[in-house]
Amino acid sequence: MKNKEVFLYKHSINNADFTVWLGFPGNYAFSMSSLGYLWLFKKIDESDIANAERICSDTVGANPCDVNLFGFSFSFDMDFLTIFSMLEKYNIPLRAKDRKGFPLIFAGGPVVNANPEPYKVFFDFFLIGDGEDLNIKAVNLCRENKDKSKDEILRMLSQIEGIYVPKYPHKVKKITKKLDECVYTPILSENSFFKDTFIIEMSRGCANRCGFCLASYLNLPLRCVPYDELIKAIDLGIEKTGRIALLGAQISAHPHFHEVCKYIYDKIQSGKNIEMSVSSLRVDAVTDDVVKTLVSAGQKNSTLAIEAGSERLRKVINKNITEEQILNAVKIARRNGLKGLKLYGMTGLPTETYDDLNEIIRLAKRIKSENKGFDISFGFSSFVPKPNTPFQWFGREATKSVEDKNNYLKKELHKLGITAHFSSVKWDYWQAVLSRADEALNDFVEEVYRQGGKLGAFKAAAKKFGINSDYYALENYEFDKPLPWDFIEMKPGKEFLISENKRLINNSEVS
Ligand code: SF4
Repeated sequence: MKNKEVFLYKHSINNADFTVWLGFPGNYAFSMSSLGYLWLFKKIDESDIANAERICSDTVGANPCDVNLFGFSFSFDMDFLTIFSMLEKYNIPLRAKDRKGFPLIFAGGPVVNANPEPYKVFFDFFLIGDGEDLNIKAVNLCRENKDKSKDEILRMLSQIEGIYVPKYPHKVKKITKKLDECVYTPILSENSFFKDTFIIEMSRGCANRCGFCLASYLNLPLRCVPYDELIKAIDLGIEKTGRIALLGAQISAHPHFHEVCKYIYDKIQSGKNIEMSVSSLRVDAVTDDVVKTLVSAGQKNSTLAIEAGSERLRKVINKNITEEQILNAVKIARRNGLKGLKLYGMTGLPTETYDDLNEIIRLAKRIKSENKGFDISFGFSSFVPKPNTPFQWFGREATKSVEDKNNYLKKELHKLGITAHFSSVKWDYWQAVLSRADEALNDFVEEVYRQGGKLGAFKAAAKKFGINSDYYALENYEFDKPLPWDFIEMKPGKEFLISENKRLINNSEVS
């Protein structure tokens, strides 16, 4: 598999006296489309401080006995299941206290940045914040002190800003990196999930700060890659594959977004064969120029995040776009040649009623009647309270109630000839449990894994340990309640989140 890889940087010859495994909780094909994971690997690999090896759920590491450090990317709540099975594949005990004679195990990524507490007994340390420099610092310290005891190394790690060592707990400041270089696909592989796609990170974070959005709050402030760096990366992508994907939660907020689109459009007009795609568009990014570029670069459909159907509810979540803006975006998409749009939304949001759902249906009806022949579909997930967001204090609506709402929407949209996909409300419930979990759930997560990790395993594990899962998923919390992740210092801090929560809920009465 790996002999079909093309390295776009100077690949190390692996003769260092220290070996790091970077674990990806998914298969090789997915790992090769995971920009952050590949970039962190590149940083260690090209630094020559260590031999770096990528380990996926379906690959086998060369020599487990030689590994000094084993780090995992932890991006999705359910990743713990694959991480545990990968540890066991190499006969590594799950709990840090049982790992005498084994390498130190660590994790980084959005899930553990937001709340590492449900996983604290399984990892020796966590990287909190942007990983590029932090990873190198951790590897360096471990390498320079590799003859010292684990305990001594952990004590030293705990003194590095941005590293959380559960054995030596204290306040941990999240690390935010200046985005002065452009992160792009450093290794191309024919076996990548997005074959031959050259992914370019245009910006990190999103300044819109929707009340529920972890991707925004975890990555504030919004940082944009300098234009020259972007163009260099785009040129490299055009030279290597010609298939470019621009990534970022809010790429349209990049001050040079339109120039970048024009740059690519002009290349296409001058005869270059370029395919280009973008991560979902914000309504205000849909302009004639942008859609023209996407269409000329081969994109047929796109996604538009509207989050909620009524203007009232969009104000509550801080997504201040009007119905007219949505309708206008659809028109622009259509007249410039896109074949269809998928609109993304969320159900079960705080203060949502059936009136808001009826607004989605009314909006769908209007879009449909004003854009005959244009393909419109919907995708919905359900609200999950996430740590370090203004909505972290809100519990979810009861599962049955959200399922009823989803069924209602599905039926009504079906009547209009519109398909709608919904995430599993039951899985979203358990995601919420994990999101707001504390250390009391350490045994629970291991038991879920032992019982096979399906929905039934979550229920059975909660029953076995007498865990009131509704407390984590459904209850509204008081503002003065200490939260398990309070020890992680983020900007903006808790005071701001409380005031933002109050401000947004005040919007709920606006018609
Ligand atoms: S616009 Fe999208 S990425 Fe930005 S805060 Fe809202 S949901 Fe998050």
